Amino acid sequence: MQRPIVGFGIDEEGAPLAFLSCGHAQHVRHNPPFFNRPWVLTEAGRAAMLGQALNCVRCDHLELPDRFIARDRTPAFTEVSLPPRLRQGHKTSVGVWARVVVVAGSLRYRVASLSIDKTLSPLEAANIPPEVGFRLEPLGEVHFYLDVYWTEHSQLAGLLAAQER
Ligand SMILES: [Zn+2]
Repeated sequence: MQRPIVGFGIDEEGAPLAFLSCGHAQHVRHNPPFFNRPWVLTEAGRAAMLGQALNCVRCDHLELPDRFIARDRTPAFTEVSLPPRLRQGHKTSVGVWARVVVVAGSLRYRVASLSIDKTLSPLEAANIPPEVGFRLEPLGEVHFYLDVYWTEHSQLAGLLAAQER
């Protein structure tokens, strides 16, 4: 899935990283002839790449980013109290992940843009990536809740602040 670059940093070994709007980081090495990214070497070059999208495979795999912490939990929902928007199609905000936790019963979880169609149960939870349409459909009686994750990570916090201005 394509995700815009919201900032840059380095890993523990000093290799350059791009931070993406989803909360994942990706190496952006300049290591010719294999990786040709001379722009990463200068501040002006990096600044010009802000907002450019990179393909994020970790989003495709629904991997919760590092440093994301569960900060909120929805009420427990049942097949009756499930909010219609979760059934009909919903997206979380930029930088906000969620995890579907089924306490009893089962729930169908679909993300059409990623060709994901899973049955969730007390044995199988799943993550919801930011800004991607998903649908939840009770398969009979079900009890579940969503844990909501975000990060205080400075790059993403800066992006969120910029959007609020
Ligand atoms: Zn990602």
